Amino acid sequence: MVIAIDGYSSCGKSTLAKDIARELGITYVDSGAMYRAVTLYFINHDVSIENLDMVNIALSKIAIEFHAVDGSLHTYLNGHDVEQEIRSPKVASNVSEVAVLAPVRHRLVALQREMANKGSIIMDGRDIGSNVFPTAEFKFFITATPEIRAQRRLLELESKGITTNYQEVLANLKHRDQIDSTRTLHPLIKTDDAILVDNSNLSRQQQLKLVLDIIRNNHSVN
Ligand code: C5P
Repeated sequence: MVIAIDGYSSCGKSTLAKDIARELGITYVDSGAMYRAVTLYFINHDVSIENLDMVNIALSKIAIEFHAVDGSLHTYLNGHDVEQEIRSPKVASNVSEVAVLAPVRHRLVALQREMANKGSIIMDGRDIGSNVFPTAEFKFFITATPEIRAQRRLLELESKGITTNYQEVLANLKHRDQIDSTRTLHPLIKTDDAILVDNSNLSRQQQLKLVLDIIRNNHSVN
């Protein structure tokens, strides 16, 4: 079974996807973390996104994996745990420009499809239902107002000890939404067969129940 969760920045996709993965006992993959890890590598190695030769060389040197650490999945870049660093404002403010690049997308989409060969999977991102897994058994498109999303993201960042403020977070997510929805390659779109979930006024538990009920009532067991 493949479950695709797409939607705008900071709308709680990964929380929902992790909760579902735990309930159903399937693998969770955070595709955004992969774009963030590539962005971190580009920043640390001064890779210019204008120079596609440099981008391709850098991509050939990047290995991304996920490993469980204290019960949660951490992103590893070339063997190093970068889970904290990829959430930094520095990465957040560059990731959408990196995610526009065709070589980056082709490399990461190939990796994401490989991950689904190993068993049932739930993946969250921007192009999962529209591009990575167009035949996914379940597709959800998650949204909430930008203000609510910014408030939630701020709390999440603060709980991780990352210093920022509401205006900066709101501006960043609007910026990423704009680039993500208007890029030529694999833009963020709601496909006709995706189920829309606006969680502006839903608690984490209410959202989980809503989505799990849909999955359990419609999952074919053959
Ligand atoms: O999901 P998250 O906010 O961590 O994603 C970070 C960025 O990675 C997004 O703003 C988007 O630019 C890019 N992304 C993407 N396609 C995906 C997942 C993320 O372009 N499937």
